[in-house]
Amino acid sequence: MENITGFAVTPYVKDASEKIIMVLLQPRMGKVHPISLELADTARFLGSEGGFKTAGVFISGEFTATMHAQLSACGLDEVFLYHDERFSPFIPELHTVALLDCIQATHPDTLLVGATPEGRSIAPLAAVALETGVTADCTELAIDANGLLVQTRPAFGGDLMARIVTPTARPQIATVRYGVLRNKMKEAAGKTTRLTRSSVLLPAAHTYRKELVAPSTDEKEAPYVLAIGGGVRSREDIELFTRMSEVIGGRLMCSRSLVERGWMPQSLQIGISGCCVAPRLLIVMGISGSVQFMAGIQGARKVCAVNADPHAPILRIADVPLVCDLYNVAALF
Ligand SMILES: Cc1cc2nc3c(=O)[nH]c(=O)nc-3n(C[C@H](O)[C@H](O)[C@H](O)COP(=O)(O)OP(=O)(O)OC[C@H]3O[C@@H](n4cnc5c(N)ncnc54)[C@H](O)[C@@H]3O)c2cc1C
Repeated sequence: MENITGFAVTPYVKDASEKIIMVLLQPRMGKVHPISLELADTARFLGSEGGFKTAGVFISGEFTATMHAQLSACGLDEVFLYHDERFSPFIPELHTVALLDCIQATHPDTLLVGATPEGRSIAPLAAVALETGVTADCTELAIDANGLLVQTRPAFGGDLMARIVTPTARPQIATVRYGVLRNKMKEAAGKTTRLTRSSVLLPAAHTYRKELVAPSTDEKEAPYVLAIGGGVRSREDIELFTRMSEVIGGRLMCSRSLVERGWMPQSLQIGISGCCVAPRLLIVMGISGSVQFMAGIQGARKVCAVNADPHAPILRIADVPLVCDLYNVAALF
């Protein structure tokens, strides 16, 4: 069958006896991308809930000792390795050929993909070829009583959370941003993952449009983050918080309020239309805690929130809620 993506695929025949949750494990600078390892944990958790097997597919132009060690310890039942130097630099169509090859061979029920720029290019290409859908940027994944993947994500600008299921098409494909599912899954069981070398006949690379993807900018991996928002009174005051972030050795970021005022760049905005953070400690000052902002801080391990309004939603989710003037806190630094 030839479809609009140009990928020749045989019609997908779901084998009811096979229940596999597969993770697209992505390479990143000689290692496995941390989002992939988070998703491997998620797959193991969902697998244990629904009685599924777990598998990974790793498509990479290089295969380092670190990658070998990380994949062997990722806790999935099996990882299929597609290692070919033509997979580097990243060309979405070539990676999709390998991904489709693996899917055609293993018939996974579910495919989890990290929402990196690369993952965001491959997932829809594979979905179109397989005549299934993609739920992008899920914030929660679960298995329901019928064994279906329940994919939760903000909808209508974040005003409500949609729960999406895919009753018939397979695989059920979901993308997840880095840090969003952290802390929700079980610890690795310490088992050794079987690594299986796989290969696929690749078309000549020059038949594809080469589109190189810049390193992702939506992953803020700083261990300490100070986020400021609408409570800041003037552009000049940002200097106070820059100093505070330097003292605590953290990264200064913000809510959309300050981006809209033109005081902070959009690249530092946290939230549904900004980036996700997953620091060890997040200090939130003068931010109300809208659902759109909250969508970007799910992965934070501990949250300290400073707000003058005792009813601010952010104080309800904070591990350390402080009802006070943020300028009094900034003056301590
Ligand atoms: C489609 C869409 C996407 C969006 N995406 C995002 C997004 O990605 N990220 C995002 O942040 N927003 C996003 N928003 C906007 C979001 O709805 C809120 O408007 C925004 O998060 C509000 O930012 P804030 O809480 O910093 O500001 P405000 O709502 O102005 O809140 C300021 C807070 O500071 C407190 N405060 C004021 N003065 C002080 C003081 N002196 N000391 C202590 N506390 C004080 C107040 O009590 C208040 O709680 C989006 C909106 C839409 C519709």
